[in-house]
Amino acid sequence: MNLPKLASAQEANEWGNANYPNIKWCLDGLDESLIQTVVEQFHLLAQSFPRVAESLSGYCVGEVLDEPEDRPGLAYYDRDDGVIILNYRFWRDADDLRKKVDVGMLNRFRFFSTNPIGALIAHEFGHAAYELFCGTEEYDEWKNLVPCYVSNYAKENELELFAETFAYCVPLEYRPGYPGRTYQLVVDAMV
Ligand SMILES: [Zn+2]
Repeated sequence: MNLPKLASAQEANEWGNANYPNIKWCLDGLDESLIQTVVEQFHLLAQSFPRVAESLSGYCVGEVLDEPEDRPGLAYYDRDDGVIILNYRFWRDADDLRKKVDVGMLNRFRFFSTNPIGALIAHEFGHAAYELFCGTEEYDEWKNLVPCYVSNYAKENELELFAETFAYCVPLEYRPGYPGRTYQLVVDAMV
């Protein structure tokens, strides 16, 4: 399934709803220069981990209720509904988003990436993957690995450790040692 050139959020929604019918696509409000990346990254992840994509019910740009005022997140995974939400207040303006992402990488809050916006999406997708990963044999092995924190954010808790490590390894780049092992375990658990 090749990805066509998508010129507007509406085209992206139509493409997404047609190709991933279990997911409600609502990317309205997204800065147009981000559309291709946002769809491409999701498609890449969904192709590699179809079961995770099947577990989702929405992929949206939207307002986030109840976010901490002092530290709003750029994106969220709503565990109850299985929705990945790109926080409208950042994703409506690509320049603003890139600045935030650069600051996050420079202070090592997030790991360095050549595709940091894609990494944000992979991180949220990683939260959805975690829901399926828990309870598997591979999860037990992962729990027993000595953690190696790929970023400061990964130190927050087990969920962020998993999501950050997952995002760090996407798209299938060779990452030796701990992160690579995590990724391999996720792949094994999802097949
Ligand atoms: Zn997270």
